[in-house]
Amino acid sequence: MRTGIGYDVHRLVAGRKLVLGGTEIPYKNGLLGHSDADVLVHAVCDALLGAAGLGDIGLHFPDIDPKYKDISSLTLLTQTGDMVRGKGFSIRNIDAIIFAEAPKIGPYRKSMQQNLAVAVNIDPACVNVKATTTEGLGIIGKGEGIAAMCVVLVE
Ligand code: MG
Repeated sequence: MRTGIGYDVHRLVAGRKLVLGGTEIPYKNGLLGHSDADVLVHAVCDALLGAAGLGDIGLHFPDIDPKYKDISSLTLLTQTGDMVRGKGFSIRNIDAIIFAEAPKIGPYRKSMQQNLAVAVNIDPACVNVKATTTEGLGIIGKGEGIAAMCVVLVE
């Protein structure tokens, strides 16, 4: 058994869709990035790559590569899952947390868990997504960005 950890943060800006865990969430701002900037999926990818000893997301999906422009990060997660299995590991569970002052994540949690599970082909019961605010503190609290952290177990 091996564990992996992932962390990511993206800036919130006007004029972008907000996509978290592959679910589009109605909100005045969206996350800025080369792909769809799905900060949660990026953290999950990094955790899986870390657990398998495969480096990090920037190594496999460079954000200067035109083929990843505006791509759904779930596509990257599916490819990541394939790489992890290619190294002989099976994914046991994914536990992630979103740090956001707004919007409310609760109504979209199940949908995100389902998306993540489908992307890496595991039981949705093995995927858990949580969310917290930072009590108004720092860049998250001021609504300048959203962050995510993830821990995974592979066997
Ligand atoms: Mg990212």
